[in-house]
Amino acid sequence: MSGGLTRRVTAALDDWRRRDRLRVRRPVVPAGPGLAEVGGQRLVNFCSNDYLGLSQDPRMATGGVPAGASASALVTGHGPDHAALEHDLAQWLERDRALLFPSGFAANVGTLDALLGRDDLVVCDALNHASLIDGVRLSGAAKQVYPHGNSDQAARALAAPVAGDGLRAIVTDAIFSMDGDHAPLPALVDAARTADALVYVDDAHGLGIDGPDGRGVAGRFDQRAVPVLVGTLGKSLGAAGAFVAGPADVIAFLENRARTQVFSTALPPVTVTAAHRALRLACSEPWRREQVRELVARFHQGLAAAGLAVPASRTAIQPLVIGTDADALAASEALRAAGYLVTAIRPPTVPEGTARLRITFTAAHTTAQVDGLVDALARLADERAAREVA
Ligand SMILES: *Cc1c(COP(=O)(O)O)cnc(C)c1O
Repeated sequence: MSGGLTRRVTAALDDWRRRDRLRVRRPVVPAGPGLAEVGGQRLVNFCSNDYLGLSQDPRMATGGVPAGASASALVTGHGPDHAALEHDLAQWLERDRALLFPSGFAANVGTLDALLGRDDLVVCDALNHASLIDGVRLSGAAKQVYPHGNSDQAARALAAPVAGDGLRAIVTDAIFSMDGDHAPLPALVDAARTADALVYVDDAHGLGIDGPDGRGVAGRFDQRAVPVLVGTLGKSLGAAGAFVAGPADVIAFLENRARTQVFSTALPPVTVTAAHRALRLACSEPWRREQVRELVARFHQGLAAAGLAVPASRTAIQPLVIGTDADALAASEALRAAGYLVTAIRPPTVPEGTARLRITFTAAHTTAQVDGLVDALARLADERAAREVA
């Protein structure tokens, strides 16, 4: 991993430790209204934000699990369920530690802002997720954008000079949300190694579905190659929230510094419990990933057999680029009439002139449903062709 990153986080941690400023979260167990247990000791909790005493009211609970965390993680919001989920996520991804965030957007904005500053250079894919763009902007770092997926240009951009202690970083989605294609991670990791740059990967769409045992695209790389790995709990894992996983020092730094984590209420325990169950299911039921792969293959075969263009994407995200906003909306409407919900994605979410149908497959779909969708798309194409002739 980037030596600059190691120096930056260990210097800060040493400094905070020396000044009694280092903060660590201690698991706080809700122990009844107004009460908490810390390290086995039952305490009256005078530091929650649970002003109406509702967070542990049985009418709010879901199967006995509190709905709300009642405070941020550093105060009393970090419970044993949060700690257990962080532990299992880190173990699964072969990272030292993981740190939960309220959402993927918050994870990216808070982490980029905490790790990077004015003297740094950040090299970004042109199609990076909005939360990555905003995080880089907030950090104040200099930014170089390379054409989508172009690792040669990324390597060239990394060669630009940085001031004294400045870091170089590559920031990218692992799988791009609107195109379903993979970032050229092996080449980006190589380029970063050459430039002693840190690699920051947002694996929102790979985690749980892509990579060895569903560990995502970035799960193919160890934490030295990809020291900052962001995953979300609201996509494949079906709950909500997100995490950053990486080396212990980097995570301890973020635990103290990432403002969207420090100053935001911790994830609801019900959400944490649901995400943890999903993580176990994702591991114990690999057929779910297989099913999606089979459905995508069947979709491609169906499109080809019907003489339709086949998306390049091999992932669960299958974009059919239509062109104008009006045509994309009309296609979406026609599919709805046929019984299929496929939202039209328009600019500024995607580049001008590339409005599209974004089809996503899940393990809950059947082959018959995929065949039906292909038929509906074929009919749609026939009708369009007929209109153009007329
Ligand atoms: C969805 C998404 C996010 C945001 O995650 P939330 O938990 O929904 O805030 C971040 N990055 C990428 C690439 C995403 O697709």
